[in-house]
Amino acid sequence: MRLFSDYHSHPQGHRVQPYTRELLQRWIDSARAKGLRDIAFTDHDRFHAGIDFDKIDEVREANPDVKIRAGIELDNDPETSASGRAWVEKNWDHLDFVLGSVHYLDRPDQMFDTVPEGAAQFAGRDIDGVYADYFRRIRDIAATGLIDCLSHLDLVKIHGHRPHGPISSLVGETLDFIRSRNLAIELSTAGWRKPVGEQYPSDEIIRLAKEKGIPFTTASDAHSHAQLADRFDELAARMQSLGVREVSMFERHQRIAESV
Ligand SMILES: [Zn+2]
Ligand SMILES: [Zn+2]
Repeated sequence: MRLFSDYHSHPQGHRVQPYTRELLQRWIDSARAKGLRDIAFTDHDRFHAGIDFDKIDEVREANPDVKIRAGIELDNDPETSASGRAWVEKNWDHLDFVLGSVHYLDRPDQMFDTVPEGAAQFAGRDIDGVYADYFRRIRDIAATGLIDCLSHLDLVKIHGHRPHGPISSLVGETLDFIRSRNLAIELSTAGWRKPVGEQYPSDEIIRLAKEKGIPFTTASDAHSHAQLADRFDELAARMQSLGVREVSMFERHQRIAESV
């Protein structure tokens, strides 16, 4: 099994770095070198000022062998997400793909997934309660109607905190909601680079999602062009063992399924 699409990438990295032909071309060259033929740029919505649809069109024209999707990762930042949502609404027809993410829990000033600082937000907490609260926030972002796919669905495990109860009882309602909204979830290799050392989401959640008929994208969450398709061989092996035989791509928010 060979994976050919990466639907989570950050050309701007961690700051506003306006799109140019040169910046985007480095990502296309890396995609091609790694055997990818369909990629989505999904910079964080707080950096939407750097996104330039005309530049995306230019690299599309120069690279007809690679499908290049215009996307964004919309999150629940208490400060920036209102402006991010407004931007997504305004540019909906230019966008192929919108990821929905929860990076904030109770603290409005710190993403819980910063390593190692964010781990302090879990200290002394009832972890099942934190999970329940996290998945409630996932349902909230899924309910906006502005999302095509949920990113790193069980990001809450990032620092290695595990719930006491079965994960199915914590995530079940959320998976049903995702299915009812006809949204996809991503299979992400990023968790292998984090303290938890496990892909997002866990095998168990992938099994539950598959049973419910939820479609999957494949994703690296690359913050550098060298990270595109990171550990996709391992992901392919995991998908094979879980019986996931189909991946999803998106064009103007329409899902395209393909066998792998
Ligand atoms: Zn994210
Ligand atoms: Zn991301």
